[in-house]
Amino acid sequence: MLNPEEKDIQIEESLRPSSIQEFIGQKKVINNLSIFIKAAKKRGEALDHVIISGPPGLGKTTLAHIISREMGVQIKPTTGPVLEKPGDLAGLLTNLEKGDVLFIDEIHRLNPIIEEYLYSAMEDYKLDIVIDSGPNARSVQIDLNQFTLVGATTRKGLLTAPLRARFGIDMRLDYYDTELLQRIALRTANILEFGITEKGAFEIARRSRGTPRIVNKLLRRTRDFAQVEDLTSIDDAIADKALNALDVDKNGLDDMDVRILKAIIENYKGGPVGLGTLAVAVGEDKGTIEEVYEPFLIKEGFIQRTPKGRVVTLKSYQYLKIDPGKSGKDSNNPGLF
Ligand code: ADP
Repeated sequence: MLNPEEKDIQIEESLRPSSIQEFIGQKKVINNLSIFIKAAKKRGEALDHVIISGPPGLGKTTLAHIISREMGVQIKPTTGPVLEKPGDLAGLLTNLEKGDVLFIDEIHRLNPIIEEYLYSAMEDYKLDIVIDSGPNARSVQIDLNQFTLVGATTRKGLLTAPLRARFGIDMRLDYYDTELLQRIALRTANILEFGITEKGAFEIARRSRGTPRIVNKLLRRTRDFAQVEDLTSIDDAIADKALNALDVDKNGLDDMDVRILKAIIENYKGGPVGLGTLAVAVGEDKGTIEEVYEPFLIKEGFIQRTPKGRVVTLKSYQYLKIDPGKSGKDSNNPGLF
């Protein structure tokens, strides 16, 4: 029996687009990528190293797999924190065949020592390994096959400059708009062989925080509600009912989004407030707020970044149904309106 988490991973795998044509949205990134892939194939070379950045659930892992499939090579997936010793990296690299993809998820969490070893591997396809220690220590150089390193990160700002400079292809994924997420919902329902109306897909899409992974999750939960009511298809009414029951609000904001907005309004009179202070107030890691929550709240116009810190907009007051005049807002600090 699989535990729920393993089951989720398995379902996620089955919903993954497997070719460039199937990948919905991110047009510019995808168009460029297909040119780079075609050119590398024409030259008979490995694709240049690729860094894919963006918030969780937007398709980074999916794209890494698509790259290997389109190049017709194997993919060896790993994650930054798993590579503890140089030997772990050497084991992976020496097993790669010509053109293969080494996929390192969460590459910003690589041990700095491993990172140093990666430099020459990425640049010259050589690995300098020190064996033995003390007076017997010697460096041995191992030739590697040409390979493509695909790194994924939610925190590109944490990559060191030398590592960043070694990626020839830099892809940044952005949140998806509702129309694209609606197409993703329709596609997923089709794979799950469950009916869905355009409006049902739209309802799920607009409440999914710009994120395909959330679309898929909410769609599956909505299907549960539909099946219990003996419906064979998801329409907007059942979607609304299910999502309300799951406490997913109309804008797709989640718990932490709302806590961030409330903290800025209730504790800091609407801002400006520094990131570190805000992080303590909501009990979340500063980097996670910066990389996961803030970009969506900024994109949707709930907060703005100013040189002095984060400030909520009028939209946040309206959304939380708080009167700006009664929130303790300082009349000397009118914020953004
Ligand atoms: P990340 O690695 O960025 O966290 P994943 O690649 O694991 O995200 O994607 C999460 C899920 O969302 C996948 O199972 C996939 O089904 C779906 N998904 C992501 N991007 C797309 C897309 N552009 N089109 C269709 N489905 C997508």
